[in-house]
Amino acid sequence: MKCWFCEADARGVCIACGRAVCHHHGYKLDQFTHAKSDTSTGFATYFKAFNVLKCQDCKLEWESWEQGKRIIK
Ligand SMILES: [Zn+2]
Ligand SMILES: [Zn+2]
Repeated sequence: MKCWFCEADARGVCIACGRAVCHHHGYKLDQFTHAKSDTSTGFATYFKAFNVLKCQDCKLEWESWEQGKRIIK
């Protein structure tokens, strides 16, 4: 598998978009939190990952939820 951005061999896969990236085009995140929220019950589950790989194109947005409503900061 080749890197999405160049012709080098891929070293990993971006956690957000799934594209393969080489050493130069991948970035390591210390922590990645993915939250799943059910608005009808207000129940939220969180998926946490550590030392994950992310490509240069992806921008992760952080969301806050309070009592089933998304808070825009
Ligand atoms: Zn590359
Ligand atoms: Zn990505």
